[in-house]
Amino acid sequence: MKPSLILINPWIFDFAAYDLWSKPLGLLYLASQLRTLGFRVHLIDCLDVYNPLMEEIGHPKKPVRRQYGTGKFWKQTVPKPSQLSTIPRTYSRYGITPQIFIREVKRVKRPVAILVTSLMTYWYPGVFEAIQLVKDIHPNVPVILGGIYATLCTGHARSNSHADFVIPSPGQFRPMELYQLIKKIIPDFPIKEKLEPLSPYPAFDLLTKIDYVCLLSSSGCPFGCPYCASPYVSPPFFRREPLELFEEVLFWHKDYNIVDFAFYDDALLADSVNHISVFLEGVLESNLALRFHCPNGLHITYIDRDIADLLYKAGFKMIRLGLETTDTKLHRDLGRKFSEGEFEGAVTHLKRPGFTTNQIGAYVMVGLPGQTYDQVAETITYVGKIGAVPYVSEYSPIPHTEMWEEAVKVSRFDLESQPLFHNNTILPCWNGDVFGELTTLKKMAQDIRNKARNK
Ligand code: SF4
Repeated sequence: MKPSLILINPWIFDFAAYDLWSKPLGLLYLASQLRTLGFRVHLIDCLDVYNPLMEEIGHPKKPVRRQYGTGKFWKQTVPKPSQLSTIPRTYSRYGITPQIFIREVKRVKRPVAILVTSLMTYWYPGVFEAIQLVKDIHPNVPVILGGIYATLCTGHARSNSHADFVIPSPGQFRPMELYQLIKKIIPDFPIKEKLEPLSPYPAFDLLTKIDYVCLLSSSGCPFGCPYCASPYVSPPFFRREPLELFEEVLFWHKDYNIVDFAFYDDALLADSVNHISVFLEGVLESNLALRFHCPNGLHITYIDRDIADLLYKAGFKMIRLGLETTDTKLHRDLGRKFSEGEFEGAVTHLKRPGFTTNQIGAYVMVGLPGQTYDQVAETITYVGKIGAVPYVSEYSPIPHTEMWEEAVKVSRFDLESQPLFHNNTILPCWNGDVFGELTTLKKMAQDIRNKARNK
């Protein structure tokens, strides 16, 4: 019989969370590869909005789902950790209830190991709760913790998570490392002599229901923004063959009827002529009615007339541009990823084929060390004037980034010893009246969006 593994996507514990095409893509890739290596994989997705047991128990707050597979998660209000007790916001566990999680774990009789992933550093309470519960049920089964929190806060995870092994960056890119570890920790593990080629597609089929599929056409990013962990977390920049990517889309569309696809790329449009344009031309030739989404944002500097045309015709519904700020000095400090006039040019190019104001969003950063309220307010206003809509993106300080030391220096919280303080809701590096000013800025952005929507 094939050895069983439990793979867990843990809960989010936070003041707010929204499902913007959020799937544990790294874990699903890993699941697929581990299956190919000969394991029986049981996925427990704590964020599963379609978990049938949740429906069965009639949980009072059924999550509202919105367009194209986005929407709310299940949630239960929980006490705030003591470190966040003064924050005037409700704190919640997002996802299924612990009781249902326990039922799911108990269904798997003799797993050889339990793999837990992790995302934001300040969501670790969900990781810890999952580890504690699985250890109660399967006390002798090794628990292996990986993912982003484990990579960025390895020391914290090793000291506090109670996982048997914490392996930074094991993700989809190094499944053999994980395989070797499993062989090492389970001496009587049946050793596979010959490994089959790894499956290229993530195991979305393990989810209860597939609303959409997340795609990775490239990994890593050629830029190196001082606030971003991509250079540390992701392997060196690499890209998949565009036609092979198109094959994947065809597979999901034909076998699973999927029409919505969300790109998880950090730099989707880099060298577009040789990469994403080739893929999009394939989509156009196929005449399939597909929809594409880019929650991570697109680089302004790469938007020209041709790519704007292709994005529109191929079925992109919402464009998100990484504007960050219009403040000249701050823009330079953040890596100057586009030149003067390029944002305006990008909006013009996007509108030409038919994108409306409402469909062109620009991410505006708030809460960077040294940033002021006026700088953010001016940027928000500017976005509206240019004919796009602003989305406020709160800065979260991240270990191993270039900006980390400065963040530690200016923050009113002890960022180094407590990852809970990396939470972007509390704007840890903002010197002003956090909740008053942030609420005003968000309202400014919302007003511009409402106006664009009602036009
Ligand atoms: S913020 Fe975006 S552009 Fe900058 S390094 Fe990260 S992924 Fe790349």
